[in-house]
Amino acid sequence: MDYVSTRGSAPSLDFAGATLAGLASDGGLYVPRAWPSFTSAEIAAMAGLPYAELAQRIMQPFVGDSLTPEKLLELTTAAYGRFAHKAVTPLEQFDEQHWLLELFHGPTLAFKDVALQLLGLLFEEFLGRGTQNLTIVGATSGDTGSAAIDAVAGRAKVDIFMLHPKGRVSDVQRRQMTTVLAPNVHNIAIEGTFDDAQAMVKRMFNDAAMTSHFNIGAVNSINWARLMAQVVYYFAAGLQLGAPHRPVAFSVPTGNFGDVFAGYVAAKMGLPIAKLIVATNVNDILHRALSTGDYSQGTVTPTAAPSMDIQVSSNFERLLFDVGGRDGLALAAQMHGFEASKAMQLTNAQREGAASLFTSYRADTDDMSQAIRWAWENCAELIDPHTAIGLHAARVADLPRDVPIVTLATAHPAKFPDAVERATGQRPDLPARVGDLFDREERCVDLPGDYDAIAEYVAAHAVPRS
Ligand SMILES: *Cc1c(COP(=O)(O)O)cnc(C)c1O
Repeated sequence: MDYVSTRGSAPSLDFAGATLAGLASDGGLYVPRAWPSFTSAEIAAMAGLPYAELAQRIMQPFVGDSLTPEKLLELTTAAYGRFAHKAVTPLEQFDEQHWLLELFHGPTLAFKDVALQLLGLLFEEFLGRGTQNLTIVGATSGDTGSAAIDAVAGRAKVDIFMLHPKGRVSDVQRRQMTTVLAPNVHNIAIEGTFDDAQAMVKRMFNDAAMTSHFNIGAVNSINWARLMAQVVYYFAAGLQLGAPHRPVAFSVPTGNFGDVFAGYVAAKMGLPIAKLIVATNVNDILHRALSTGDYSQGTVTPTAAPSMDIQVSSNFERLLFDVGGRDGLALAAQMHGFEASKAMQLTNAQREGAASLFTSYRADTDDMSQAIRWAWENCAELIDPHTAIGLHAARVADLPRDVPIVTLATAHPAKFPDAVERATGQRPDLPARVGDLFDREERCVDLPGDYDAIAEYVAAHAVPRS
């Protein structure tokens, strides 16, 4: 499989190349040249496969010749063997229509582990073949950072520099990053928001002074391999609820549009999806874009669901590219306009293309708390604030009663205990596997929200490309 940039002028790459490159050199994101698809009979034959085998079957067409099927299965078996639940992503039933897909059984308690445990192994596999070193530079609103650090800590040929907005991640999230003391892990707290951190990371990919010395890699969902790994659990849930014979809807707590874009890819591959519900908090740029066509950046309001406190959704560009006719040069012009003015209007083709599969809802703090309470009182489930935003959207979405709606449970409630306790009076316990988090030593540097300071720090601590 060949990967092309959404902005039309970077060279195309194979899967291994796209995995190591992260952002394309023209500032765009890599997407497969065409969507592979499965027939209904092929999908039916996947029912009941263990998760690691299902993952290999779904991902092989994207991986192409970069890994043999045997090698890919070896990597998925190792990645998903670290999950605390045998089903990897178990499905729970709330009531006749509503289901919960638990994506938080990995080492750092959020869905980011599903993709990053595999990505860490892919980096090791592809780097092991040559003499290159990789300098991963990432931005995190909390959960990507810990999942990426867990996935690459102590691995050879990789350094990781992780930027988080100082004071805007939860204590559990921060400690899951800063207590990893492996020498290849560099935590940086910056003054500013997640969007500021993400903008600096993207800038580094296009900074020749940095890219000429360092092989900069991405762990944010700008990296295609992450989205690919997330496609698998849409199939896993769909198969359990009757796919390919019955369509299923998914409600997805959304920030950077990576998780829900993986649902779009699953639909393109033949999984019957009735609707993809984009659930946002009050940082609602995606809800505005999908409902009115207005993609304009507001200011970020900090909420109890910090991983969704985002006003620029990187992966939305992939959707706009695909539904807008795959015209990279036109999209590049549109995105440059957005970068200059912080606002753009979707074209009619983009709006209509998105409307056929996506709908969106916005939840405020009360909606979120009520959803946490509803899950506790009616189903004896404690859910985290991000998941609650998804559940709120699922419950207000206007879908026929015979369509099952799966809400993606993106984080373990113990990652955000304060909001859960406020809503229910119950304080969720951290699972035993992370139990001593609050006793461990922390290591982190503070830097101003200034690109030159960050670039200087990375240059002083990273290992050159080879
Ligand atoms: C990252 C994250 C999200 C948002 O996912 P995107 O792929 O960025 O849309 C939602 N919930 C939690 C808990 C997260 O960590």
